[in-house]
Parts: sequence; structure tokens; C-alpha cells
Amino acid sequence: GSTIGILGGGQLGRMLAMSAAQLGYRCHIYAPEGDNVAADVAARYTCAPWHDGDALAAFARDCDVITYEFENVPVGPLAGLPQDKLAPGIRALEVAQDRVREKRFMLEAGGTPADFVAVDHDSELADAVERIGVPGILKTRRDGYDGKGQWPINDRADAQGVRIPETGCVYEARLTFECEFSVILVRGRDGEVRFWDSTRNLHKDGILAHCELPAPAIVAEQSARARDMARKVADALGYVGVLTLEFFATSRGPVFNEMAPRVHNSGHWTIEGAVTSQFENHIRAICGLPLGDTASVSRTMVMDNLIGADALDLAGHLSDGRAHVHLYGKSEARTGRKMGHVTRIG
Ligand code: ATP
Ligand code: MG
Ligand code: MG
Repeated sequence: GSTIGILGGGQLGRMLAMSAAQLGYRCHIYAPEGDNVAADVAARYTCAPWHDGDALAAFARDCDVITYEFENVPVGPLAGLPQDKLAPGIRALEVAQDRVREKRFMLEAGGTPADFVAVDHDSELADAVERIGVPGILKTRRDGYDGKGQWPINDRADAQGVRIPETGCVYEARLTFECEFSVILVRGRDGEVRFWDSTRNLHKDGILAHCELPAPAIVAEQSARARDMARKVADALGYVGVLTLEFFATSRGPVFNEMAPRVHNSGHWTIEGAVTSQFENHIRAICGLPLGDTASVSRTMVMDNLIGADALDLAGHLSDGRAHVHLYGKSEARTGRKMGHVTRIG
């Protein structure tokens, strides 16, 4: 059989490897040291730094196709690998790793991010706040997740004395929105695109906490435009696999927040809630197989993330016999850590 390489060892890689196994593939995980809960369910595991060129090359030789479960894999070392094995391609990573690049990319595709200005030096922040106004959010251009690397700017005084990190920031308008939703699509090697239903996404302390269907009417109204933006981005990147774009539903239409060149937490419900899950369709797409139906199997669904110590009571979660409980096998239930999720259909 063929071997699928996955860069990154977290829960997304774990669930990708489980779907790959169902279709008869072997997975080889490559990840630097850490929890590597994907390695538990994979045939092979290489534990090496991202910058270890020899280890990466050996990994690539063992794999027929290589994908990512983590968008912050450094691009430099990947440039030396056979590019035809990488799906999605390296360009999707380059764009999605940098908030300024992804917002500019969206503008070029005719989409609508929140007003923003790149802030690469301390001296540029006051001017950026002047141009965009308050309230705003200062975000690191790179490496942020779960709301880390973000600072609210409520008035001009908040911008004083802020130190901009070496890799730069973006200052963007803080919007009032009715709700958040994401567009999750899969694009095949032949350019075919399919979308899953958009859930309403609720965050707590900057971390996704809950997704639900049906989403409010405003999501149904705005998802056509949002899908249009997402498709343009996917086509422009020649994207292969699952791509996620986050949006705010505002009184002025859908506003693009950020993209992830991978399967996404707001799509975990598709394991039981859609005919074909995001994980399986990602595997199908990168392997050049026919895509599966993305339709929801029910009109109503809720998915709750298990965060930190919430996850420990497995028997408690299972006491609802209809709950689909997923634990990621992480050893330490640190505060704010995604430990698992529970999906309820219908
Ligand atoms: P993720 O874990 O989704 O990758 P992240 O750290 O990249 O998160 P963002 O998605 O940029 O962070 O922001 C986290 C959350 O903060 C958003 O889902 C939203 O609730 C809120 N937020 C971010 N940007 C804005 C904005 N411009 N206006 C209003 N709220 C915002
Ligand atoms: Mg993000
Ligand atoms: Mg986000």
C-alpha cells in the first residue's frame, strides 16, 4: 500500500491518520518532540526538528504524498523536498503563515478582510492606530493560535510603549459581529470544490469552544459570498485538500478573519455529522481519489470542545449514550489545552 506523510503530530494529524487507515493507507508522522498524539495511531514516526534536512529527506523518500496538520511548519526546509509530493503546496503555507500576506491575498481575490495595516516596527504602531482607529487588535503576523499573540487596543494610550516582536505584527479593526462561522472546503486534484455546511462557531477566551447547526439565518445569507471568496483563494493557490477560512457575519456582510491550510477544529463534527468527514476528504483529495459527499446527515448538531481538565471525566461524557466522544490521548490536561471533543447529532 501507499504511505501518506503527515507533518505535525497533534490531534488533527491523529484524526487524519485514522481516516487514512480506514482507506487502507499507512501513515508516517514527522514531528519535533512533544505530545505527538498522531504517532500513537500511525505506522511510523520520525521525531526530528523541522530544520533537520537529512531526516526530512528520508521521511519524504518513505512517503508517496506529504501533507500538513500544522500550518506553521517552517517553509525553508520543505523547499528541498520533491514538490510534487506536497499537498497542499508550499505556497498555501507561505500565505497562511503570515496574517499580512493572507489578508493581502484575500484582497487580491476580491474578498473583504477587516481594515488592517502591517506594523513591523515600534515606530509604526501609533500611525497604524491613527489610520485604522479604535477599538482594534494588534496580532503577531506569525505563529499565533488560540488567541495567543494578540493585544486589544481600546484607545490610543494602549498603543504606547508596546514592543513589536522581530517577526512583525498586524493592526486590524476590531469588529462587532453577529456571529462567527467558517467555510470548510475540499478541493480535488482536478479542481473540483465541495463545501461542508457552515456552523456557528463560539469562542471562549480566544479558543473555539462550540459549533452548532443549524447556524443562524445570517450565516445562511452570508455563506454564499464567503464560499465565493474561499473558492477564489483555493483556485488561486491551486489548492489540493481541505482548506478552512474563518469569517465574521457582520451587518455589512461577511468579513474574512484568517485561513488555515488544513482540516480545522470547526469541522470535527463532520466525522459523524456529514456523509464524508473533512479528514477522509482530505485524504481522498491528496491521494487523487474521488471526493465524498459533504452533505450533513442531520439539520441539527452540536460539537463541544473538551478543554483542559474538562476532558478527564470520560465515563461522564459517555453517560449520554448518543454522544460521540473523542479524546486525543494527551498526557497532561493543561489549562486551555484542547483534549478532545464531543459531537451530538440530531
Ligand atoms: P485560531 O485558534 O482560530 O487559529 P488565532 O489565534 O489565529 O485563532 P484569530 O482567529 O485571529 O486568532 O482570533 C481569535 C478570535 O478572536 C476570533 O475567533 C474572534 O472571536 C476574535 N477576533 C479576532 N480578530 C477579531 C476582529 N478583527 N474583530 C473582532 N473579533 C476578533
Ligand atoms: Mg489562527
Ligand atoms: Mg482563528
